[in-house]
Amino acid sequence: MKSHLILIGAPGSGKGTQASKLVADGGFRHVSTGDLLRSEIAKKSDLGFEVKKVMDSGQLVSDELVIRLLQANIDLSKYNYIFDGYPRNIVQAQTLDREVLKGSSSLAVYFDINPNKLVERLANRRTCKNCGSIYNLVTKKPKIMGVCDECGASDLVQRPDDKEEVITNRLKVFSETVNPVLSYYQSHGRLVTVDAEANVEEIYTKISSKV
Ligand code: AMP
Repeated sequence: MKSHLILIGAPGSGKGTQASKLVADGGFRHVSTGDLLRSEIAKKSDLGFEVKKVMDSGQLVSDELVIRLLQANIDLSKYNYIFDGYPRNIVQAQTLDREVLKGSSSLAVYFDINPNKLVERLANRRTCKNCGSIYNLVTKKPKIMGVCDECGASDLVQRPDDKEEVITNRLKVFSETVNPVLSYYQSHGRLVTVDAEANVEEIYTKISSKV
């Protein structure tokens, strides 16, 4: 049986792109806590409104809320998951093991990248609101400007938290919380590091060889 995959990396380090490729290959379901939170916002509920304020500032949403959302959207008895954006801190890493994985096999993949590259990557990132495909206005332009190559929707948008002023804060939060998470997986012998500045195919080959 395959391991679940836990993708750890700064915003813009390429986790979503690799997750899409692995899912397209079959065998995995992708669960992104950022996407789950954005759907909560789209519902325009009171909770969504609170979540939006936190996300737009680049801070982390509360551990309790995120684990609740995650638990409600996965079924480990049926699927192997790619966890994208969870865990974000050591408490979440421990909670994932204790309350979700409960001993099922899992491997953490760290997307190692020079933070200086990320501001530009994120500022140029556009996401299809309809199907979630990710583009970069410099390195991966859509064939027709503003139109998604995958689903044809004219709905390529910049996430509110990909604006330059918020990016700096998100990167700061990431760098302040990631090391204990990496040490945790390292000490359990469950950490693989990939060079997130390599090209998409090379990274994909490395990850695939581990699962
Ligand atoms: P992402 O799409 O993974 O870049 O996440 C976007 C934003 O959602 C983050 O900046 C946080 O505000 C929130 N978020 C996503 N995942 C988590 C998590 N595991 N814990 C707390 N907040 C999260």
